[in-house]
Amino acid sequence: MLRIREIVSVLEQVAPLCLQESYDNSGLIVGDPEKLVGKALLCIDSTEAVIDEAIAKGCSLIIAHHPIVFDGLKQFTGSNYVQRVVMKAIRNEIAIYACHTNLDNVLRGGVNQKIAQKLGVLPTGVLRPMPGIIEKLVVYVPIEQSEAVKNALFLAGAGHIGNYDECAFSGLGDGSFRPNEEAHPYTGIAGRRELIQEVRLEVLVPVWLKSQVFSALKQAHPFEEIAHDWLRLQNTHSEFGSGIFGTLSQPLDSEDFLRFIKDSLELKVLKFTPIASKKINTVAICGGAGSFLISDALRAGADAFLTSDIKYHAFFDAEQSMLLCDVGHYESEKYTIELFSTILSEKLPNFATIFSETNTNPIDYLI
Ligand SMILES: [Zn+2]
Repeated sequence: MLRIREIVSVLEQVAPLCLQESYDNSGLIVGDPEKLVGKALLCIDSTEAVIDEAIAKGCSLIIAHHPIVFDGLKQFTGSNYVQRVVMKAIRNEIAIYACHTNLDNVLRGGVNQKIAQKLGVLPTGVLRPMPGIIEKLVVYVPIEQSEAVKNALFLAGAGHIGNYDECAFSGLGDGSFRPNEEAHPYTGIAGRRELIQEVRLEVLVPVWLKSQVFSALKQAHPFEEIAHDWLRLQNTHSEFGSGIFGTLSQPLDSEDFLRFIKDSLELKVLKFTPIASKKINTVAICGGAGSFLISDALRAGADAFLTSDIKYHAFFDAEQSMLLCDVGHYESEKYTIELFSTILSEKLPNFATIFSETNTNPIDYLI
């Protein structure tokens, strides 16, 4: 048995909640984070049928891709399926957790990488990197402790840039301070200005690691009051953002490519723009509704873009220079259940997860 918060923290290490889009509601939606649970049911949508399945299978935690609640609920009368799901979950002490756009927006171990894996696409980048998720920590450290402080910051996760870690900049300078009577200075005496050689240390920190990096700083820094600045940057991060692009293991003719994705993703139908005569090599991918990324996919030089929920007029935006494929919303995200299982079993090998057998796709096709 594990506490719900321990289980979901494993998912949040891969997909921090702060990476979710503003309209989203990822996180624990129903349930007590301190409750002990024995097994979890993994699904795409926590519908009423899925709650029934969880009851039948003795799962007191449901981990879903789509949040059951997006907006505030004002009544609990059972007048729509959202209210009924929440009421049934509470009545049966079943917790519901959603891991949605925060998992869409990570390259490593995210929804789009999973689709890429199914297609043998090797991801090379994010289509629209997310701004505002990196901060710079500037801290002033006495010269003799600067290496220890730097090491502590690195250990807590600071200093990653692309394929490099332990990245920092330091410069020497003179620091001054004057302690008052109540102070407990590391060096110097009350009422007298102290002048010491300090290192100005700069490291990058992703926003979701800020509190852990700051705790490490407080542990390692010798001063009672630590002079430091957090600077919010506009820099993007190459591994976080919407959609991905990459290359096929071998280029395919457009028609072969369409058959390949229909088979690989087990699709009943596939909608696409008129076939361009060129070979498909670079492929852009966005699980779920991704028409907002058509221009980004064109800019990335994609020969094809796989996504879903494309409206009639958006198909024109491919300008016939890119094969735009609508594979279906559920179909593009159905492998997310495997993703949940992989992430959890790696860190919690003794915790049981069960794949939901309920098909929650609200769309069917007459072939
Ligand atoms: Zn979706």
